[in-house]
Amino acid sequence: MTSDVESFSIHVNRCDPETAAKVYREGLPKLLSLYSKYDVASTFYFTGELAETVPEAIDLVKENGHEIGCHGYSHEVGDAFDLIGFDEQVRVLESAKKVIEKNAGRIESFRAPALRINRDTIRALDKTGFSSDSSVCPQRFDGPFTFGSKKKLAWLVSKRKPFVYADSGVAEIPISALLLPYIGTTMRISPSTNKLLGKVHYAESRRTDKPVVFLFHPNECLEDSRRATPRRTKNFVQHIFADRLRQKMKMKNLGPSSLKLLEQVIVRAKGSGFEFVRVKDYRKTIPEAAQ
Ligand SMILES: [Zn+2]
Repeated sequence: MTSDVESFSIHVNRCDPETAAKVYREGLPKLLSLYSKYDVASTFYFTGELAETVPEAIDLVKENGHEIGCHGYSHEVGDAFDLIGFDEQVRVLESAKKVIEKNAGRIESFRAPALRINRDTIRALDKTGFSSDSSVCPQRFDGPFTFGSKKKLAWLVSKRKPFVYADSGVAEIPISALLLPYIGTTMRISPSTNKLLGKVHYAESRRTDKPVVFLFHPNECLEDSRRATPRRTKNFVQHIFADRLRQKMKMKNLGPSSLKLLEQVIVRAKGSGFEFVRVKDYRKTIPEAAQ
């Protein structure tokens, strides 16, 4: 079970400090109590920005025995890792790591904001002391629904099982997907599709020993009366799909219903005999790349 902790408000479709405070005061406590009810060990990927705004949020998660990882520094679309080169990525990773480690102690697990990475990212992670990335969604196909989706076409051929990149100490621990990603958004938009997706992943895991990696966001448990003014991407097709339709779908089952649905995901996993582990603990079980 993995969670991305960021100040992005799904309701107003942008990052703001108010959401960061709500994630700390409302979202995280609810999520943590659900995890402790079922003995779920999890990894929480924090943006440097959120760590700076509410450092107490890191203490809270850590006190509950979960792992703290890094979700980049900023979550703004224009700051995505696939838009910047190696040196800039190293700088961003160093500054995010520094601010998160102030409260977390040493961190080693990474997931890119909006799952956007490029060929420089793994080398930059290696250089800055990270031991795993979890930004790849094998065989997920977003079509025109997300930003950077052309680059994400590489996912169609990416490996389904965790592996260590050649000449690197960084492992890839993919987010479970099969056309659709096994994440909170899919769960909220269509609980029945998500349930079916879970069954497929369980069956695959039993056959290939692949871990099932689910992604949730504490901001999905939040309620908010504010509404977004749709973004205006210049490309018309992207405006209709990525701005309007996507925003509408992403609003489904936010707040308390998201937690009820997540509880069902956990209960089903436990009922099927799965054990919840933190990413850094799982990382130790992945064989190193042959030199
Ligand atoms: Zn994120």
